[in-house]
Amino acid sequence: MKILVVGAGPAGLMFASQMKKIKSDWHIDIVEKNTHEEVLGWGVVLPGRPPHHPANPLSYINDPEKLHPQFLEEFKLVHHNESNLTSTGVTLCGVGRQGLVQALREKCESVGLKIYYESPLGNDPKSQCEEYDLVVLSNGVNQKATHFSEGLTPQIEYGNNKYIWYGTKQLFNQMNLVFRAHGKGIFIAHSYKYSNEMSTFIVECSEETFVNSRLDKMSDEQSAAYMADIFQTELDGHSLIGQPGLGWRNFMTLSHEKSYDGKFVLIGDALQSGHFSIGHGTTMAVVVSQLLVKALSTERNVAAALESFNSRAMPLVSLFKDHANSSRNWFETVDERMHLSNVELTQSFEVRRNALPSLQEALVQNLGYALGRQG
Ligand SMILES: Cc1cc2nc3c(=O)[nH]c(=O)nc-3n(C[C@H](O)[C@H](O)[C@H](O)COP(=O)(O)OP(=O)(O)OC[C@H]3O[C@@H](n4cnc5c(N)ncnc54)[C@H](O)[C@@H]3O)c2cc1C
Repeated sequence: MKILVVGAGPAGLMFASQMKKIKSDWHIDIVEKNTHEEVLGWGVVLPGRPPHHPANPLSYINDPEKLHPQFLEEFKLVHHNESNLTSTGVTLCGVGRQGLVQALREKCESVGLKIYYESPLGNDPKSQCEEYDLVVLSNGVNQKATHFSEGLTPQIEYGNNKYIWYGTKQLFNQMNLVFRAHGKGIFIAHSYKYSNEMSTFIVECSEETFVNSRLDKMSDEQSAAYMADIFQTELDGHSLIGQPGLGWRNFMTLSHEKSYDGKFVLIGDALQSGHFSIGHGTTMAVVVSQLLVKALSTERNVAAALESFNSRAMPLVSLFKDHANSSRNWFETVDERMHLSNVELTQSFEVRRNALPSLQEALVQNLGYALGRQG
């Protein structure tokens, strides 16, 4: 069996390393468009404490402690300049994306897989893929899958809010959510520490607030300074650090009705992206990769495996989409709730996805099935 994995992010790397572990004689190539060093983004939050949590990708690498993961068990919401501290009810694990991705790459290399850097699948993917029995598309949201196969044309929807992903040296010991009225608009900051030295700091605001604040006319440096000024109480003199390629944007939700077409199969963000406010994209990448590994290692051929994978993964993917969209919608309509007290806003935030079936239970159930713990 010869497999090509397109994209060395969490989804492609988890799939490749786990597949190779089970089928050591299969040939798996990984192509990545960027260099080894280029990994976009700051920290992300993952579930539980490695190595005991199978949905946490740190559980699959050697010595996760070397990445200095940060365990977060409290949630702080700031509104009307007052803060409300509650328990998250679970342990969350903040970790740097760069360290995580590079550790997963080392894991792949340690099991004999080769990653070809600066090797994007180009303009003629079909002929490039000819020699492979299966092509796993794990190339994230930035690429449209259409040119791999027409049957994989995604539906694309952009969020109404603008957001930007910064890093900062200010350490936030809890999951922090700050609502700050400034001028005529509301700015929202999502932050938490992800190493001994750094925190993620994401800011979002409505398109109207973005334009009224003249952020559309500012340079990257001006806009980082402007945001640092708005959140000066929280940042306590620390600056906000931007990254080339991570400017202000509208969140892109990319969805598919079906996960495969012929020998091409989608996983991770390439299959379904979900708003950062539910912090589950990487977890989904892990669970969906494990479902694909399970199908390929138990079904009689690629066609049967992809059909089985599709029927198992798509209900989970669709539930993830509903949760992510409902959370995104809560943030996009937050103006309606600004009159609420701090405690009322915290309650509204906490129940914003309660009308939906539990994503947590679906993840646990699917991962248990993929890892052979249940039928
Ligand atoms: C602001 C923000 C905050 C987030 N916070 C969290 C969080 O707290 N917790 C969480 O779980 N998730 C979070 N996410 C989501 C998470 O980052 C993604 O879900 C996760 O990275 C998906 O992994 P992936 O491997 O599918 O895609 P990616 O990580 O995007 O990796 C795709 C890889 O494919 C490569 N590639 C692209 N095109 C090609 C090509 N043509 N050929 C070869 N290679 C290609 C890219 O360079 C990249 O390395 C956040 C996302 C955002 C935007």
